[in-house]
Amino acid sequence: MLFATHLLAAGLLARRFRTSVGWAVVGAALPDLVDKPLASLGIVDLFHSVGHSALLAVVVVPVALLGRVGVAAAVGWASHLLFDAVHVVLNGRAGDALFLVWPLAVPPDPLAIPPGAFFFYYLWSPSFFVEVAIWTGAAALAVRAWRGRAEAA
Ligand SMILES: [Zn+2]
Repeated sequence: MLFATHLLAAGLLARRFRTSVGWAVVGAALPDLVDKPLASLGIVDLFHSVGHSALLAVVVVPVALLGRVGVAAAVGWASHLLFDAVHVVLNGRAGDALFLVWPLAVPPDPLAIPPGAFFFYYLWSPSFFVEVAIWTGAAALAVRAWRGRAEAA
């Protein structure tokens, strides 16, 4: 899933569950902010590694237990992992979902496309259309909220 859509989805989830939108967005940004530079610098081989591993829950769960801010960040982080897993499955690369257990297992045939080139690979894939639906739904919610405020004024 594209980075901006992760942020949007986390924000929508946070609004729905009445938690901090800002911290959910921060949590949703972290997996890519950690893993993309690591792979770009050649420190790891995959663009989905430590930040995308569900095993990082050993850190995230205690953070969530700190309070509402931690819960919001954890929800954002977890939503990023979930949406990336759904994305690879939708695009016919279910084996890539093994990133969820990195480093215990790694995808057997990862794409290994850097973020910029990935965008063009990704366009018109099945998951891309899911993202279009998410953005369209968010736009509809924004228009509805705007109209509601306009009518109330
Ligand atoms: Zn990601």
